[in-house]
Amino acid sequence: MTQAKVYLVGAGPGDPELITRKAVSCLNLAEVVVYDFLASPLLLRHAPESAEKIYVGKKCGNHSTQQQIINQILVQKARNGNVVIRLKGGDPFVFGRGSEEIEALLEADIPFEIVPGITAGIAVCAYAGIPVTDRRYASSVAYVTGHERVDKHKSSINWRRLATGVDTLVFYMGVTNLPFIAQQLIEHGRDAKTPAAVIRWGTTPEQQTVTGALNEIAAKTEAAHLKPPAIIVIGEVVRLRKHYRWFDTKPLCGKRIINTRAVHQSSKLTLALQDSGAHVMELPAIAIERSAPGIFAEQFNMLDTFDWIIFTSPNAVEIFFDELIKQKRDIRALGTARIACIGQGTADAVRRMHLHAGVVGSVATAEGLLDSLRNAASWSMQKILLPRAAKARTILPDTLRTWGADVTVIPAYTTVTPHNIPAEVFEKLTAHAYDAMTFTSSSTVINTINLLKSRGKDSAIRTIKAASIGPITSATLREHGITPIVEAREHSIPGLVDAIREHFA
Ligand code: SAH
Repeated sequence: MTQAKVYLVGAGPGDPELITRKAVSCLNLAEVVVYDFLASPLLLRHAPESAEKIYVGKKCGNHSTQQQIINQILVQKARNGNVVIRLKGGDPFVFGRGSEEIEALLEADIPFEIVPGITAGIAVCAYAGIPVTDRRYASSVAYVTGHERVDKHKSSINWRRLATGVDTLVFYMGVTNLPFIAQQLIEHGRDAKTPAAVIRWGTTPEQQTVTGALNEIAAKTEAAHLKPPAIIVIGEVVRLRKHYRWFDTKPLCGKRIINTRAVHQSSKLTLALQDSGAHVMELPAIAIERSAPGIFAEQFNMLDTFDWIIFTSPNAVEIFFDELIKQKRDIRALGTARIACIGQGTADAVRRMHLHAGVVGSVATAEGLLDSLRNAASWSMQKILLPRAAKARTILPDTLRTWGADVTVIPAYTTVTPHNIPAEVFEKLTAHAYDAMTFTSSSTVINTINLLKSRGKDSAIRTIKAASIGPITSATLREHGITPIVEAREHSIPGLVDAIREHFA
């Protein structure tokens, strides 16, 4: 039994990968997650599906009542015996009101642990190419709240010492107060020409940066309509950004891409697009429903009589070998059957079973595979097993049969449309506030269209900005009145990423 406890966990600054291993282990154990605005929603994936997720980020009422409500939730949920994760943006103790929550837990006698996180004042600067210290330019750095009320009679900030006593100044929550901050620093002795930067939504694909001298930064920020949340960095180190910029120069930086993908598949495409700097939102468009167990029973009894097994998707590979094991057999049952795969992704899935595919389609379509198969054997009388999706084009078995082969097709699974569209995707899709939507198969096209129709959003269909993996998928798009803006030359995930990058170059 896990003991009821509250973990105050730093979620990092925004990039969902800037989270500690310890934070992930905590989330894995969560029964309740209490999170707020700045924590990336993607992080919630680390928590079990069954965990209760409570959003407390909305700006409701004033800060102190809101904080009291959060404290009450933490205490109550822990008293009910739950492992509670209080997920907070950046680090819980850096302008995070961590102390207030700890006080409430102490008072209620509830055990707690603290998991530090990467704070915005370090990470956001790094993603903007600004080192907060540097042997040449800065030996000291101060983290300061910019939230102080301008009219506050006696400031808790010692402006004189701050202005002249510290090399790099990093302000949190300071954008709206920036004119006041800059003025105070200059009045108290900081050189008006000191370089400064304001960075909004740092470490995320929405990252936006404005730079300028201290005496002009407020006006420039206003002119750029740059709103919170942002970090302000002031000091000579800001000069280094010119040479050290690395994140906001990525080819897909600032692009919003919706990736339609299968529910259960970990998305290589998402990772590759993110690596190019895109903001990726996933739209699970395909769920796999396996056929009844035992679907292969008959063929497994005579597996060694087949000359070929042909796989046309990683799903088919996975299900086939799962069934094999469930029937208390293993790869030896395949005897000398040769293996062909439609493309590299499927061949990789076969590889994971410690088997080698002798033939891999050079173009990942049924036609491409047939081209590769044509001269790979003499097909007359060859016994072929073809485990695949229930609804699939018939060109592959039909053509093999015209070559004289004896083909057994097993419908191993059906692809179905899931019911939900994640809120962020729905919003961006209907507002047309995205740059491309990826389709890696005809089923992703058909299911996405069904999904939109089921939500009464037929009007969003024709205007879809589709990035297609290849000609078959593009044809399905066109059948539905959608002209793809991108089509991959090489019909693979890397091929699609290249095509998208070229399109936006
Ligand atoms: N505990 C958090 C800070 C919370 S205060 C941490 O350690 O980072 C909220 C302020 O943090 C925002 O107003 C902004 O100044 C800053 N901030 C947090 N995330 C940010 C981001 N991704 N980009 C820019 N500023 C950010």
